[in-house]
Amino acid sequence: MTLIRQYLTENDCYKAGTAMTPKGVMVHSTGADNPRLARYVPGNETIGVNRYGNHWDRPGLDVCVHAFVGKKADGTAATVQILPWEMEGWHCGGSGNHTHISFEICEDGLDDPDYFAAVYREAVELTAMLCMEYGLDPLADGVVICHAEGHDRGIASNHSDVLHWFPRHGKTMDDFRADAAKEVDHMTEYEIRMAVRDELARIEAERAQQPASSWAVETRVIPRAVEAGISDGSRPNSALTREEGMAMILAALKK
Ligand SMILES: [Zn+2]
Repeated sequence: MTLIRQYLTENDCYKAGTAMTPKGVMVHSTGADNPRLARYVPGNETIGVNRYGNHWDRPGLDVCVHAFVGKKADGTAATVQILPWEMEGWHCGGSGNHTHISFEICEDGLDDPDYFAAVYREAVELTAMLCMEYGLDPLADGVVICHAEGHDRGIASNHSDVLHWFPRHGKTMDDFRADAAKEVDHMTEYEIRMAVRDELARIEAERAQQPASSWAVETRVIPRAVEAGISDGSRPNSALTREEGMAMILAALKK
């Protein structure tokens, strides 16, 4: 996922700045054939630049989502976050505005499988990231929904997104939730691996700083080993690697 932040501080929704505790994620799509992110945000070199002033960073619009997923300047898929995640958006015309983080996937002509695959993947990863950040289960009832599902649940206005588009490419919202859950598992596994690695490194660094134990001091084992040429005497409490063991044994055998 490529996440770029460009808050739309001139949008009335941003200015209202109502705090929200996210309870879910609502997926929208724009309903207009323009896959470029710069259609909706002022942009920059990376995003692409909006030269028409018709982006959403201006007063007088009664809409704002939290992010757009679409094409950046180089044509690859990216996400532009335009509202803080913990601020209410004006995205679904119902009570879902008070509970759900929202993003719009920029539509193209709806038939390009490559574009769909790219933005679908981006949306899955964005949703997984948000679920992890806010401790949400993407498979739990009502957590990850699209606008049309929000209407069915009575928390959003009557729109069809994204069910007029996803099925054209063989995807349902159940697929989307399952893919987001799978991504959460991957990210969780990765986080655990990184945490274990960091912890091992921390323990290693701590042991490298520890002075010799009292028995080693009493028996003078370190200076004797240095004198015998089998150790340089440093890091007396560090773990011994196999290669260090080999070097020490060879040095001892040479004596
Ligand atoms: Zn919508």
